[in-house]
Amino acid sequence: MNYKNFPMVPRIIFGRGSFNQLNEILAPKRLNSHAPFIYLVDDVFKSNAWLTSRIQLSYDDKIIFISSKEEPKTSQVDALVEEIILLTKERPSGIIGIGGGTILDLAKAVSIMLTNEGEAKDYQGWDLVKNAGVYHVGIPTISGTGAEVSRTTVLTGPDKKLGINSDFTPFDQVVLDSELTKDVPTDQWFYTGMDCYIHCIESLKGTYLNAFSQSYGDMALSLCKEIFLSDNLTELEAQEKLMMASWHGGMSIVYSQVGVAHAMSYGLSYLLGTKHGIGNCIVFDHLEEFYPEGVTLFKEMKEKHNIVLPNGLCAHLTDEEFNTMIDISLSLEPLWENALGANWKKTMTREKLRALYQKM
Ligand code: NAD
Ligand code: ZN
Repeated sequence: MNYKNFPMVPRIIFGRGSFNQLNEILAPKRLNSHAPFIYLVDDVFKSNAWLTSRIQLSYDDKIIFISSKEEPKTSQVDALVEEIILLTKERPSGIIGIGGGTILDLAKAVSIMLTNEGEAKDYQGWDLVKNAGVYHVGIPTISGTGAEVSRTTVLTGPDKKLGINSDFTPFDQVVLDSELTKDVPTDQWFYTGMDCYIHCIESLKGTYLNAFSQSYGDMALSLCKEIFLSDNLTELEAQEKLMMASWHGGMSIVYSQVGVAHAMSYGLSYLLGTKHGIGNCIVFDHLEEFYPEGVTLFKEMKEKHNIVLPNGLCAHLTDEEFNTMIDISLSLEPLWENALGANWKKTMTREKLRALYQKM
């Protein structure tokens, strides 16, 4: 057995209001006055002085506001890198991503592409990155994806949706300030929170499970149950706990894998642009065959928070479109193997997968 040696985020600050310490965290990392800090910020904060006024810009530092309406694309990463190179006299001192999984993934990918040749699509896969990226900081403003702790940055490229998985991908610093999540709308809170819940179920029910993954998965799952099913938490407690659930859920899949819901939602997202959180929910709602207890609990959570998921997404797809979705989904072999075991190809045929998609 050859065990993988994974890197982790080396520095983390946790606490309500810890965002106020960002400037002092960054100051010693400034290389020189021509090497700025570039802040990639979700444009939901564009008119939100409460957040942006606390970012201290010096020298050539810049804030670039980015929409997270669509999931990150390799071409978008390349365009951002180009923009940053044109804006700056020297390689930046740091890239700071402030937002949800979309912005965090863009920050990780931009940091890598500033120091590696070619285009982002060339690095979609496992361990293709040669040079360490620029110092990069992740500051989540919504909780659930685990992107703040993971070793990947999920990108849609010209012919695949696949992450840049590398030892250089994880953030050098993470700031966990739950106050930044206080204005997330309920629907989105649920979808992204369920990403964490689904990470736990897929990890805990997978064949790759081990004590490392289980310890984090159990913790994240128990936090999710408390957050989404109990009535005993204050809003503040729920926000802090979801931030930690996201972290633990992310840690759980570091040493295991996700499963059926993720494999299928990648297909939906590639073809229809369905975003990760809601896509996972749409799929997971129909997976009682694979995750009976997990899906029952999911339906309870959905009901408690009055979430109505869209349906009929695949009602009018052509054969060709179904095939594209099926190809993308089946190409994620480790996810299927984790979910269904080494002989997964016998269980999950194209016909079976199509029938599942047709329910959605
Ligand atoms: P997101 O970043 O797409 O944001 C969802 C919505 O919430 C957006 O409209 C955004 O503007 C809004 N939002 C974010 N913070 C807010 C705040 N504080 N107040 C109000 N609105 C706010 O959502 P997400 O679910 O966090 O991320 C999804 C992305 O994460 C996908 O692209 C997915 O592929 C990626 N992902 C990555 C990993 C990883 O390990 N790298 C894991 C899971 C998912
Ligand atoms: Zn996920």
